[in-house]
Amino acid sequence: MRHMETSTTLTTEPVADERLAEILASPGFGGYFTDHMFTVKWNPADGWHEPEITPYTPLTLDPATAVFHYAQEIFEGLKAYRHDDGSVWLFRPEANAERMVRSSRRLALPELPPADFVQAVEELVRVDQRWVPDAAGEKSLYIRPFMIATDRFLGVRPAEHVTFLVIASPAGAYFKRGPMPVTLWLTTDYTRAGRGGMGAAKTGGNYASSLVAQQEATGQGCDQVVFLDAQELRYVEELGGMNMYFVYADGRIVTPELGTILEGITRSSIIELAGKMGHQVEERKISIDEWRDGVTSGEITEVFACGTAAVVTPVGSLKWDGGETPEVAEAGAVTMAIRQALVDIQYGRADDTFGWMRRIC
Ligand SMILES: *Cc1c(COP(=O)(O)O)cnc(C)c1O
Repeated sequence: MRHMETSTTLTTEPVADERLAEILASPGFGGYFTDHMFTVKWNPADGWHEPEITPYTPLTLDPATAVFHYAQEIFEGLKAYRHDDGSVWLFRPEANAERMVRSSRRLALPELPPADFVQAVEELVRVDQRWVPDAAGEKSLYIRPFMIATDRFLGVRPAEHVTFLVIASPAGAYFKRGPMPVTLWLTTDYTRAGRGGMGAAKTGGNYASSLVAQQEATGQGCDQVVFLDAQELRYVEELGGMNMYFVYADGRIVTPELGTILEGITRSSIIELAGKMGHQVEERKISIDEWRDGVTSGEITEVFACGTAAVVTPVGSLKWDGGETPEVAEAGAVTMAIRQALVDIQYGRADDTFGWMRRIC
């Protein structure tokens, strides 16, 4: 595969240094965007063509553009980290590239070669490297690659015009005063994925369908919603955008098996990391009764959720229609050790024994 030759047009109006310093001091999440964006187009005749980096700007799309009507869209999320020596690194970008290929197969979108995906991300981060915050306080640059159907056509068919873009947004620490346990709401009215559905694809539709359940959770005074399998309403799947882990008193760690859940890169990394830390890791079905009974009996000592945005989030309690597990006020020791091991690799404070980090600049 020949590498893309990206044309670059730099902005004549970059965000001023003083303003950038203000933004990076307190970036929050997802509200500020870097000076540039990456775009490449696809159609059946030309394949992927016209890769370019341009000033960050709104898209102009016809109201009849397919993605607005039939949601033929997929996305990714990964971060660039600044190490203490000033260098900038990506965490497992090839894994995101390969997952986007799997998502594109499910959504009948064209496959972007993983090497081109990684190149696009690298080129954008290099151009906008001043937007990567200092490591202090676990800040990072959140990178959002995505692919949309751009056909101007209301008929229903796989797109013949597609655009892949990469944008980036500085991100602050998810938890300001260290990881705080979240409360989860168990929804039995809604599910996020059925057999043969899109649960394993990273696509906006899965998030659209999770919002009303998240509203239900908020209404119940909970932070996040947890979904069960659609068939039996019995097995734990995941949260709206995070995978789940259970720590047992004997040191075993259990995470729901793949199938209808999203295969998180944080989830996969923890399987390897926890194994190296001496835990026996099991990927299998875990029923809601095993969770409730285990937490109550003390057989399950810690529960946590994981994903790129929040890394590892301790679970304080689970609430459902008619009950609640005992509340845990502090993050557990195993949860925190796993979290620290992962963050230390990402920020270059521990040896990258798995070869996960990729230096960009
Ligand atoms: C992105 C995502 C995750 C977490 O995946 P990471 O690669 O670890 O960030 C988990 N669940 C869903 C539904 C997701 O979209």
